[in-house]
Amino acid sequence: NGFAKLGLAPELLAAIEDLGYSQPTTVQDEVIPQALPQADGQARFNDLMVSSQTGSGKTAAFLLPVLHTLLGDKARAQDEERLEYERAVAEAAERGEPAPKRKVRKDPTNPRNFSPAQPGALVLCPTRELAQQVAHDAIELVKHCRGLRIANVVGGMPYQIQIARLQNADLVVATPGRLLDLQRSMQIKLDKVRFLVVDEADRMLDLGFADDLAEVNQLTIERGQTMMFSATFAPRIQQLAARVMREPRRVQV
Ligand code: AMP
Repeated sequence: NGFAKLGLAPELLAAIEDLGYSQPTTVQDEVIPQALPQADGQARFNDLMVSSQTGSGKTAAFLLPVLHTLLGDKARAQDEERLEYERAVAEAAERGEPAPKRKVRKDPTNPRNFSPAQPGALVLCPTRELAQQVAHDAIELVKHCRGLRIANVVGGMPYQIQIARLQNADLVVATPGRLLDLQRSMQIKLDKVRFLVVDEADRMLDLGFADDLAEVNQLTIERGQTMMFSATFAPRIQQLAARVMREPRRVQV
């Protein structure tokens, strides 16, 4: 499979096989290696400004590196948790005490256990239809990834259902208006977001989302990487890029 050389996690490669993709498209070939964390382990992220059309495979081009990194983070967090528990068991044994119980995860569907969602990655889309399509693609791609959760946040869906699904979400795919509603009502916190993807940035501006984008930019200012996709590099897109990215590299396909 032509994806094997890109350095993606085996769980993602398995999903790519299931989908029947045999070769990366041009935009995937360009974007995936540049968006992945560097092999030397340094957190050296690259902001990317990509011009590409619908049908080019752009969705997988941003989802795959984001999911790859979220998977790595999850595995590290689980390792740390396991080590911490093993240390606690060893310390108890030294003191001649019984082993401590493992922490039990609270049932997130019980409203009494509510805590705001804190996703590690956020994809913004201009329309509900696009956000649903992107979330659908993401769910296909994480089929073999244990414990990675995708949530869709769009207008026109009942709040209660959306909030229940948001719990423990690692990746949120959202339209800006509904996302900011949930942020203001403290159902979601954006300060753990490491990746921000702005899909179809040109349509985002056409639909009047410039102020919302500025607000999300501020709320996720600690993030490590931003990718912006747009059909064109018109001057207004470049102005937006200059506001939300640091010296972005351009990829034109
Ligand atoms: P997009 O440009 O993201 O809207 O993708 C267009 C279509 O191409 C979607 O239906 C994808 O499922 C499909 N696709 C994405 N990447 C590949 C690939 N590497 N090989 C074959 N089909 C793909």
